Amino acid sequence: MQTTAVVIGAGHVGLAMSRRLSERSIDHIVLERGQVANSWRTQRWPSLRLLTPNWQTRLPGHHYAGDDPDGFMPVADVVATITSYARLVGAPVRTATTVHAVRAVACGFQIHAGDALLHARAVVLATGGCTQPAIPAVAEAVPPPVTTLTPFAYRGPGQLPDGGVLVVGGSATGVQLAGEIRRSGRPVTLAAGEHVRLPRTYRGRDIFWWLQATGLLAERYDQIDDLTRARHLPSPQLTGTATATMTDLNALAAQGARIVGRLGRIVGGVAQFSGSLANICALADLKMNRFLNRADEWATAAGLDDDLPPPHRFPPTRVDPRSPLELDLTSGEITTVLWATGFRPDHSWLDIPVRDRTGHIRHDGGVVTDAPGLYLLGLPVLRTRASTYIHGAATDTQALAGHLHSFLGRRH
Ligand SMILES: Cc1cc2nc3c(=O)[nH]c(=O)nc-3n(C[C@H](O)[C@H](O)[C@H](O)COP(=O)(O)OP(=O)(O)OC[C@H]3O[C@@H](n4cnc5c(N)ncnc54)[C@H](O)[C@@H]3O)c2cc1C
Repeated sequence: MQTTAVVIGAGHVGLAMSRRLSERSIDHIVLERGQVANSWRTQRWPSLRLLTPNWQTRLPGHHYAGDDPDGFMPVADVVATITSYARLVGAPVRTATTVHAVRAVACGFQIHAGDALLHARAVVLATGGCTQPAIPAVAEAVPPPVTTLTPFAYRGPGQLPDGGVLVVGGSATGVQLAGEIRRSGRPVTLAAGEHVRLPRTYRGRDIFWWLQATGLLAERYDQIDDLTRARHLPSPQLTGTATATMTDLNALAAQGARIVGRLGRIVGGVAQFSGSLANICALADLKMNRFLNRADEWATAAGLDDDLPPPHRFPPTRVDPRSPLELDLTSGEITTVLWATGFRPDHSWLDIPVRDRTGHIRHDGGVVTDAPGLYLLGLPVLRTRASTYIHGAATDTQALAGHLHSFLGRRH
């Protein structure tokens, strides 16, 4: 079968791209291994809520129209939003069609999808930036019978064996799951490495209002000094709830969780934690305050100081000097290790030599320059800092659909 463009993945990004291609009358299909919004249906834990507010959950041609713009969507609502978006844009989705291989051939690309072989002049990879949990190599050294699991498999505290839980990772996933497990009454230890600390609200506004208003989310990839670092920044310590201003390490410690440093090694069943927790926390505090300074400066320049509550600062992260540097995982104290160590994309089926030394696809804002006609979407800070979030798909797909359109024009 022949088509002009193939979009792989029917998450919100692939669907937004489908809309952009339709706007330009570019013949295409969207291939999806599961159902529309498959990641949200199959890879998210039940209690998850978006940490971005509802008003910000917008896509090209779609704005939130519910009665709770300042709320945070549960997973079921995200699935419903993306599913109705697919209908709205009339995306030509083929569900239950897994792409097994994409190869470059004369005049385009060959795509092995399900049992079929397709040919297209352009291919858009929209298979997601969080397709697999990123689990550190140290996981192999966790001694049995400690249970290990990832956020993909986590359903709630009730599924865990009795006993203590070591949550590895202090970003959004880690603090959310550690909080939920602690509230169920279990002893929780959280190993925190580098993290991004932000308040849920500041001066009466949601932090995402500030991130947008100050222009931070709109910063372009080609204007960011250390782009590699920006693309690997951990998600902020936020939870989709307006009831708590902070869901950070202080909040967890106040709930009775024990905070330790980054998990470095496990030797002979003994987990060893970094001694730099205090430094890591001081750095996170510094960066949070730097952003709050930027927010205050912006508010003053915008003449909003009289309309907003006055500036203030949050107490620094408290680090318990008695926080252990080692934990014997064979003692029975810890029965579960939960890897909240991030997520990564999976493009293993892409059979085109476009990867760098680290295995990442080389691209310029989503344009895979080594393979003309190949595009990449849905990765953090792809074209702006907003690319990490749902609403960032609007500008990313606009730019890449424009490029793809010109590419087709150049060829014929
Ligand atoms: C835990 C978590 C919380 C998040 N919270 C927020 C939030 O609060 N706010 C926010 O804005 N963003 C949030 N995000 C980030 C972002 O919105 C998601 O990563 C989003 O799912 C990315 O959209 P996508 O369309 O690029 O990828 P996905 O939604 O992952 O869609 C990719 C699609 O491609 C399909 N696919 C993959 N491989 C193949 C293949 N080989 N063949 C065919 N189909 C394939 C998948 O089945 C999937 O349906 C969160 C992400 C995670 C992981």
